Amino acid sequence: MAVDLSHSDEVRELVERTRDFIRGVVVPLDDAHDGDIAAAGGDALRRDLQQQAKAAGVFAPHGPVEFGGLGLGMSDRAPVFEEAGYSLFGPTALNIAAPDEGNVHMLAHIADPAQREQFLAPLARGDVRSAFAMTEPAPGAGSDPTALRTRAVRAEGGWRINGHKWFITGADGAAFFIIMARTSGEPGERGGATMFLAPADTPGLRVGRHIDTMDKSMLGGHCEVFFDDLLVPDSAVLGEVDRGFDYAQVRLGPARMTHVMRWLGAARRGHDMAVARVVEREGFGARLADLGMIQQMIADNEIDIAATRALLTRACWELDRGEHAANATSIAKTFAAEAIVRIVDRSMQMCGGLGVAADLPLARLYREVRPFRIYDGPSEVHRWAIAKRVVSAAKRARREAE
Ligand SMILES: Cc1cc2nc3c(=O)[nH]c(=O)nc-3n(C[C@H](O)[C@H](O)[C@H](O)COP(=O)(O)OP(=O)(O)OC[C@H]3O[C@@H](n4cnc5c(N)ncnc54)[C@H](O)[C@@H]3O)c2cc1C
Repeated sequence: MAVDLSHSDEVRELVERTRDFIRGVVVPLDDAHDGDIAAAGGDALRRDLQQQAKAAGVFAPHGPVEFGGLGLGMSDRAPVFEEAGYSLFGPTALNIAAPDEGNVHMLAHIADPAQREQFLAPLARGDVRSAFAMTEPAPGAGSDPTALRTRAVRAEGGWRINGHKWFITGADGAAFFIIMARTSGEPGERGGATMFLAPADTPGLRVGRHIDTMDKSMLGGHCEVFFDDLLVPDSAVLGEVDRGFDYAQVRLGPARMTHVMRWLGAARRGHDMAVARVVEREGFGARLADLGMIQQMIADNEIDIAATRALLTRACWELDRGEHAANATSIAKTFAAEAIVRIVDRSMQMCGGLGVAADLPLARLYREVRPFRIYDGPSEVHRWAIAKRVVSAAKRARREAE
């Protein structure tokens, strides 16, 4: 089996350009506003940074070429997204922040020509933002998507949607929503979900409060969203009726991996910061970096970074081959979400009091990476899925041996 982990010259150059752009232009703004994107200017900042990213030739590395993107596959996205993640504002600058990046990916795969023109084109170009509305308050969809309660029923010329979503990233200011609603079956049943596209100004669609979460780097907040007799035409159906859960997999597997790429970049910044600090700081007649227990933290960070990259590489390779990659993405997501928190936590520890102060970015990195153990599937749910596959295979083997 040939194993080639190298990237083309074009991708290597793009990685370099992205590194220069992020560190030269974006990191200073991130630092000046403690990673709070609303305080830094919100959508006005996004538009300004995206213009500069276009000029620097680093905009939309994932986007379809026909809409001004660079058209990279998953394996080639990895090092570019990691560089973008070095600043908390970097993904927004390159138009690869959640949820827009995942929505571009899914629309590029599923949308029909009219939907591509109306929704995908402006999103990929950075003209607008979007939201993906799946999660509901209890007893609705959360870790268990089959609990979906938002309903879409047939109406004259289309569908009438009623329901309540929450934690919807980017909802405030989004131009359109991708809505997951139940078109058949009952909560708890595995099928019967459909995705709908709805412009934000459609009557019956209302964005409610921002849920005040610990992170501050994603535009448009994490909001409650209400659908009260929201009427959408048949042309709003994304893909086919009742296939929403299948399509969610098209989005969620790659979206999990791109989160890993971006947050790995953030963790690497924390690690770089901590190493620079302990090499400088003196104590007990030596540099902190020469003390064994500090070196253990440095080594453990290096191991977590390398292991995360390796699992990511495997999952991206499977995705680029057109495989479902459910197991590889679950393994990579679970390990990475926990490793990234460990890396940032150790980096804070190495910096002492400064590690938890706003003078360094470590405290805000922690605030940003911790929720990743919950969204895109909590660690426990992925572990459960991984274990169930192993147990099912073992039971099958046992039956066949009998
Ligand atoms: C910052 C942020 C952004 C988000 N953005 C979006 C968005 O844009 N769109 C969207 O639709 N949703 C979004 N979400 C919601 C997110 O997808 C859900 O929070 C997640 O799926 C978990 O669902 P829940 O909150 O209902 O937790 P619950 O389903 O109530 O689960 C609570 C906990 O129970 C445990 N658990 C659950 N199932 C199992 C199991 N089988 N075995 C063992 N333990 C288990 C886990 O520890 C889990 O954390 C976002 C969430 C956050 C925090």
